Amino acid sequence: MGRKSVLISGAGIAGSTAAYWLARNGWQVTVVEKAEAMRSSGNPIDVRGDAASVAHRMHIWPALREKATRVDRLVVVDETGRPRIAMDTRQASEPDREVEVPRADLAAALLSAARGEAEIVVGDSISELTQDEAGVDVRFASGSTRRFQLVLGADGLHSAVRRLTFGPEENFASPFGMYVGTMRTALDAGDPRELRLFNRPGISLSLHPGAGHPLAAFIFRSNEHLDRLDPQARKRMVESAYEGRGWICDDVTAEWAAADDVYFDAVTRVTVPVWTRGRVSLLGDAADCVSLLGDGSSNAIIGAKTLADALAAHPADHRTALTAYEAAQRPLIRAAQRRAGTNSHFLVPASRIGLGLRNASMRLASLTRRPSEHADAQA
Ligand SMILES: Cc1cc2nc3c(=O)[nH]c(=O)nc-3n(C[C@H](O)[C@H](O)[C@H](O)COP(=O)(O)OP(=O)(O)OC[C@H]3O[C@@H](n4cnc5c(N)ncnc54)[C@H](O)[C@@H]3O)c2cc1C
Repeated sequence: MGRKSVLISGAGIAGSTAAYWLARNGWQVTVVEKAEAMRSSGNPIDVRGDAASVAHRMHIWPALREKATRVDRLVVVDETGRPRIAMDTRQASEPDREVEVPRADLAAALLSAARGEAEIVVGDSISELTQDEAGVDVRFASGSTRRFQLVLGADGLHSAVRRLTFGPEENFASPFGMYVGTMRTALDAGDPRELRLFNRPGISLSLHPGAGHPLAAFIFRSNEHLDRLDPQARKRMVESAYEGRGWICDDVTAEWAAADDVYFDAVTRVTVPVWTRGRVSLLGDAADCVSLLGDGSSNAIIGAKTLADALAAHPADHRTALTAYEAAQRPLIRAAQRRAGTNSHFLVPASRIGLGLRNASMRLASLTRRPSEHADAQA
């Protein structure tokens, strides 16, 4: 008997992790990725807890540490750039259990691990899926066709697998009332240990030193509907939210208008009632998520490993395996979806009063943290 075959759509955080573990468990894995090349945008991401354990076991921890940012402080600045509040973001240094890396470096490390184990096809995508009792016939946009025993949709928020198998995106996705735009910036980010954050009611702009390549992130509240792929629309939206607002807003907005490697999307909540239909299943943002502020990347890593473990535990019964995967992973995502609302009020307070309350709570937190900081320093 040959190895069982699985096609994974998307070589992002979830897709590469799943590819690695399924191949290690004996599956013949093919990954199809729409993008021709890795992109440099994307905010830094914390990998910690169970996701850190998975990264250790994939032997990518040294690569992540090498790309790690050195940020350990959040500094809120005013419209002149003057620091108003400073808060430590790490209570103690745990280099083996927590790392912050730019999303692009995390994605590259996971993909490089997967490359050693799986066939990776770039610049293509699935255009048709037809399943029967024994397998799934797949037609690709390039015109080729192949058959697999399982198909996994790890193709993110706007998943093609979800659309083809479960229904149109609007059945599952609802807007969170915010937009996010990130890009690399040529601006000097200053102290490599400081993430600087600027707010006005309903908008935030952060300047992150990254790991030598500073990153700017616009996160703002808006209920406007726009075509995220239309560069003119996203330029206009960011300009109207940020121009003339102070600090570095005008410089970054001008860079944004000229940049082509950017991440821009409406923050979205995705809820799919059941993640598996026959031989097709979803993971990462394609399944359930809030696409920002909900530990999406760590949860994507954990979910991919949980799915691979479940298929290994039930090698002859993919239905039971995929049900077990969903039962284990869904509570994690539900909790993250619940936290996202609170997190959004912290990062982007909607009103002047909200901003004042957020700043007061940060000042209090920075004061109450001091004693443990001293203890850490003395230890
Ligand atoms: C370039 C990029 C930058 C990002 N930056 C941020 C950020 O700054 N802040 C934030 O909160 N989240 C960001 N995200 C989303 C974040 O990575 C995810 O929310 C999270 O990591 C969950 O991972 P995922 O693997 O489910 O989805 P993703 O990491 O989004 O990966 C999905 C993958 O599928 C590929 N794909 C999409 N459609 C198809 C298709 N039809 N066929 C084949 N492949 C397809 C994508 O190119 C991508 O590689 C970014 C995603 C990308 C792709």
